Amino acid sequence: LFITFEGPDGAGKTTQLNRVAEWLEQQGFAFVRTREPGGTKISDSIRTLLLNPENSEMANETEVLLYAASRAQLVSEVILPALEDGKIVLCDRYVDASLAYQGYGLAYPVQQIAAINRFATTGVQPDRTYLLDIPVEIGLRRVFQKRGSAPDRIERKDITYHKSVRKGFLTLAKKEPERFCLIDARQGEDAVFSVIQSDLKRHFSL
Ligand code: C5P
Ligand code: MG
Repeated sequence: LFITFEGPDGAGKTTQLNRVAEWLEQQGFAFVRTREPGGTKISDSIRTLLLNPENSEMANETEVLLYAASRAQLVSEVILPALEDGKIVLCDRYVDASLAYQGYGLAYPVQQIAAINRFATTGVQPDRTYLLDIPVEIGLRRVFQKRGSAPDRIERKDITYHKSVRKGFLTLAKKEPERFCLIDARQGEDAVFSVIQSDLKRHFSL
């Protein structure tokens, strides 16, 4: 069972992932929790390259390929082995993030980004995706004011970019309504978690 969490910056993915992980743990389920970009030694090095605000000269093509490269390593080293072991995999961002950020956000043809990522992932796809949707102004305010860490290279991009990303996520969710569970992340943390929890119970009898 492969579950991903997506959404604009500041939607609260990490918080919800923590809650889901804690809940699975309590019930004794075997699961692996990971994140993108990153999750392996090589992928974490790529993450540093991608998110360092000093790398402002990065070409968009480089960005597309580095996200895909980080993902390729994560699939091969972590996600695929865990799925083959029958474990639940929880992943903070996956291919949809590349379609939204690098496809819709950077205005590349989404089909092209999808093709690059089919290669990178050998076609491994999530069974369920929680899209935590948040208006860009609210999400970025959370990122810039509340969260402990400094905003990364991508979070610093302009609001127009972030609006295209959010629209991209919503478009993707419409195209695949069976896989996506769209959640309004303006609700409180507990409300969002209970939506995810009941969805997991209903779909996968967890
Ligand atoms: O999920 P998290 O915020 O930790 O992801 C790190 C950053 O990478 C995010 O701020 C997001 O803006 C960016 N990102 C991206 N393209 C992806 C995945 C993440 O630009 N495919
Ligand atoms: Mg972020």
